[in-house]
Amino acid sequence: MQKFDLIVIGTGPAGEKAAVKAAYFGRKVAIVEKESTYGGAEVVTGTLPSKTLKETALFLSGKFEKGIYGIERGLEHEASVEDFMYRKNFVSASAAQEIYENLNRHGVTIYHGVASFEDPHHIHIQGEKEETIYGENIIIATGSYPYHPKNIPFDGKRIHDSDTILQIRRFPSSLCIVGAGVIGCEYATIFATMGTKVYLINDKEQILPFIDQEIATDLVTQMQTAKIEILFNKSVESIKPAPTEKETIQVTLKSKEILTVDMFLYAAGRSGNIKLLNLEKIGLNVSEREQVFVDAEYRTNIPHIFAVGDVIGFPALASTSMDQGRVAVAHIFQTQDLEHLPSHFPYGIYTVPEVSMVGVTEEEAVKRKLDFYMGKARYSDMPRGKIIGAKSGFLKLIFSKDELRILGVHIIGHMATELIHYGVMLVEEKKTLPDLIGQVFNFPTLHELYKYAGYDGLSNFTGHKVKP
Ligand SMILES: Cc1cc2nc3c(=O)[nH]c(=O)nc-3n(C[C@H](O)[C@H](O)[C@H](O)COP(=O)(O)OP(=O)(O)OC[C@H]3O[C@@H](n4cnc5c(N)ncnc54)[C@H](O)[C@@H]3O)c2cc1C
Repeated sequence: MQKFDLIVIGTGPAGEKAAVKAAYFGRKVAIVEKESTYGGAEVVTGTLPSKTLKETALFLSGKFEKGIYGIERGLEHEASVEDFMYRKNFVSASAAQEIYENLNRHGVTIYHGVASFEDPHHIHIQGEKEETIYGENIIIATGSYPYHPKNIPFDGKRIHDSDTILQIRRFPSSLCIVGAGVIGCEYATIFATMGTKVYLINDKEQILPFIDQEIATDLVTQMQTAKIEILFNKSVESIKPAPTEKETIQVTLKSKEILTVDMFLYAAGRSGNIKLLNLEKIGLNVSEREQVFVDAEYRTNIPHIFAVGDVIGFPALASTSMDQGRVAVAHIFQTQDLEHLPSHFPYGIYTVPEVSMVGVTEEEAVKRKLDFYMGKARYSDMPRGKIIGAKSGFLKLIFSKDELRILGVHIIGHMATELIHYGVMLVEEKKTLPDLIGQVFNFPTLHELYKYAGYDGLSNFTGHKVKP
């Protein structure tokens, strides 16, 4: 039987980064993957596919270029669903290949098959060939799967979850999306950009409750301008599937309203992927949502077994999952490098327009009774914003009254998910408004938003306001 210092289960971002780091530090590592391709939700069903579809929708629709150059670039033909999927398929295949090569470069042994625990050190692999391997240490990085409520008759053809929506063979003329979280909002804006009539059903009175609500409100306005109909405080009672392709799906809401749509996407909630692992046999502690309980080192109740990524729940991002994998390895093998995640990390929402944030929101600052001021700058006022034709979007800073310390940065607009990283550094390194204003920025750039939000903040602080 093969013996390893570490067995990692799952080749998603959490598993891949954990495996290659341990191998880099000279350990004998195996990784097990049940699918024929690598990368999990990051590569196959989630992050990269949806982000590529967003860029494709912007390219095919020319949404942001319309009217700004004085001439229009005509499409040679109407975009087909194959055009829409072309780049996504390319990016997924190439990212999966990159993971395979990275694992090989580091000398990680790859096993294909479903992994399950025989006992706390032995992993059984059910693949083309059946075998058992021994791990001194084990990392569970099996990710999550879309939640399926009983009242939704998923068929993967017209009634989808966030996995099967990536396999559509034609564009929906109309789409009802349930769940105004990150995934629901992203797909709502992607399909609306492609010309689909979108209904977004949200059981609360606000979308994305964890982000700054001024930004959320602006996003709602922009979604409504893009003709997305958001139904607040509504939920689905039942769905009547369409018996034939020509007929429509009937969505009955608890309020008794009926929507007739071409396709349906349920995008609310995910559960941990633990069913196949046989965790009961080893007595590993898990929650009702099928998530593995871990401590600050990502250690489970069995000391040599760790869990990272979506399978442990919040924040369930590819970005944080990768570093959780690296942190777990630091604790297993005492590599003395990355022993915890930084206290501030960014959130990126790839809607049209993008949203990104770090640190304290205005609502949180009020709740915590912080003494704070704000500063804002608009994309349309920046020379670079004028060049790209930005008609909306802004950056908002939140800073403390006493030290002028930057506590939070919130951005809605073009490239928000790129721009946020300077804000992460400002918040994480406890920088002040004078630190920010003292920096020279390339000109013209969108990063100038920071400097002018800083000046606006300063004028709010001094009461000497020149610009409204
Ligand atoms: C639509 C969508 C959009 C997203 N967008 C973003 C984004 O923009 N930014 C971001 O940071 N995050 C995003 N995410 C979240 C991100 O994809 C996940 O947080 C991340 O993929 C989790 O990584 P993971 O390694 O924990 O699990 P996964 O990526 O799910 O990988 C788990 C792997 O384990 C394998 N596996 C499971 N069980 C077994 C078993 N028993 N034996 C062997 N192998 C097994 C699976 O096949 C899979 O390959 C998005 C997710 C979705 C669904």
